[in-house]
Amino acid sequence: MCYAIPGKVVGIENSLVTIDYFGEKKYAKNDFFSLKIGEYVYAQGGFIIQRVSEEEALPILEAWKELFFKLQEIDSRISAKPQNLYQRANYLRQKYSGNSCCVHGIIEFSNYCRNDCLYCGLRKSNDRIRRYRMEIGEIINTAEYAVKKLGFKALVLQSGEDVWYDEDKICKIVSGILKNCACLIILSIGEREESLFGKAYKVGARGLLLRFETGNPILYEKFRPGHIWKERVGLIKKLSALGYLIMSGFLIGLPGQTKEDLEKDIDLTASLKPEMFSFGPFIPHPNTPLGDFPKPSLEFVLDIIAQTRMKYPDSRILVTTALETLDKINGLRLGLLSGANSLMINVTPQKYRTLYEIYPERAGTEISVEERIGYVIKLLQSLGRAPTDLGRGG
Ligand code: SAH
Ligand code: SF4
Repeated sequence: MCYAIPGKVVGIENSLVTIDYFGEKKYAKNDFFSLKIGEYVYAQGGFIIQRVSEEEALPILEAWKELFFKLQEIDSRISAKPQNLYQRANYLRQKYSGNSCCVHGIIEFSNYCRNDCLYCGLRKSNDRIRRYRMEIGEIINTAEYAVKKLGFKALVLQSGEDVWYDEDKICKIVSGILKNCACLIILSIGEREESLFGKAYKVGARGLLLRFETGNPILYEKFRPGHIWKERVGLIKKLSALGYLIMSGFLIGLPGQTKEDLEKDIDLTASLKPEMFSFGPFIPHPNTPLGDFPKPSLEFVLDIIAQTRMKYPDSRILVTTALETLDKINGLRLGLLSGANSLMINVTPQKYRTLYEIYPERAGTEISVEERIGYVIKLLQSLGRAPTDLGRGG
């Protein structure tokens, strides 16, 4: 199965490479290879992650060619003649971002956390959760299976803020994965030391998924005791300056959060120049201090996706698992039809998946990863979306 198709290098200007996909030009940064015009590469999240031989690339492109144009046609048909807000957002998504849909894998490798965020089931004060940590080798093997057997080209490594994984261990995980697998590694390990992220970058990590949670410092500091809003946002900015691709965003529906707060949250995310917007509904967890608060409605979250697309038409917007959890049957499809163009598939070994209980009854924990991939591919094709990641659009 293929989540990204090879593209041909048609231009090189320092580290910026122009790649051709069936006549469409995209740009990607090249940090790792010495490339020549005419070579074939896989790009992911705006980075070139692998060089492939012509013999390998041509049959893949031949197999994709017909489907590539057929999917574009379905997408254009579905997104034409917009009438309501969601359809207008979907129209803009098609117009500015085309039909490619990022499909990243996520490995949730530890549910230990030193923090006590009031909204989260992994908070350290929740003593009703069974904790687990995956060994370094197990994480590397899981990643290898996801890349080599399942076809993922980008993997998010996520955990609670678990300091058992020190700088050395995180670097061993990143370099251990990259030794055998060509993929984009995105760290989502919380607010760890800048030096740790610096070392991880040196050994090849290129993405950071770190939400600022809310742009309202008062709410932030209330819900994340002991943490300072400015430091969180400051860290995201510093890591962006270091070269990390940023995925960031906020929680929707936190107690006390207003519509104005959310409008500002959209703009704050955009100001971080993110590779991807990642925002999703707050879902109350019964074993947390916010357990009795209501969750936002599906429509409310879809509105935020649509508003974001209207304001920032060429962005990547993720349908989060939390949104899918609000409506397990229609959440993903409706998110994709309201302006979103990315999703993640949980590739954590099944035995740990229910233990990573940030909030209860998360979507996608009950079926195998293979079943989930089959479902996602079928859904994307019915919507005319190509489950590829073609680098940053030009
Ligand atoms: N510990 C890391 C990464 C894991 S938590 C960190 O905090 O950055 C990943 C995300 O889960 C958080 O950024 C938060 O936005 C989200 N989250 C936590 N509790 C949640 C809840 N009850 N409902 C929905 N999302 C939640
Ligand atoms: Fe820990 Fe992240 Fe949950 Fe906060 S949101 S308690 S940092 S896992």
